[in-house]
Amino acid sequence: MTTTDDCLFCKIARGDIKAAETYRDDRTVAFKDIGPKAPLHELVIPIKHVASLAEATPADVELFGHLMVIAAQRARESGLAANGFRVVMNAGADAGQSVHHVHLHVLGGRAMAWPPG
Ligand code: AMP
Ligand code: ZN
Repeated sequence: MTTTDDCLFCKIARGDIKAAETYRDDRTVAFKDIGPKAPLHELVIPIKHVASLAEATPADVELFGHLMVIAAQRARESGLAANGFRVVMNAGADAGQSVHHVHLHVLGGRAMAWPPG
């Protein structure tokens, strides 16, 4: 079980590990994905540790809404609003979640296939 002490994205949120940050406020950090899968690939995370979207409760509505709004803001700021972009949140093993601190992937700058693999 990942705790906030050994969670990679908690460490980034605290500033203990450096990331290429593109946005920060009191609840959220956005930064460049270390292994980009598209010309724009950023992650938007809550500063609060939530391991998976599977754990979300009604108390998290505002926080998850905020993550989406920041994702849209980063897409606009990156010039992707016209051509489109994709926002993805992997939850659990079948979806390929590898870091157990929720994060939105914001991907854009190329055409993407559907359905995802
Ligand atoms: P997921 O597979 O949905 O859990 O996504 C985790 C993402 O975190 C992957 O796209 C990784 O490339 C990315 N990642 C892992 N470590 C770092 C890091 N130190 N800085 C930025 N992105 C990272
Ligand atoms: Zn965490």
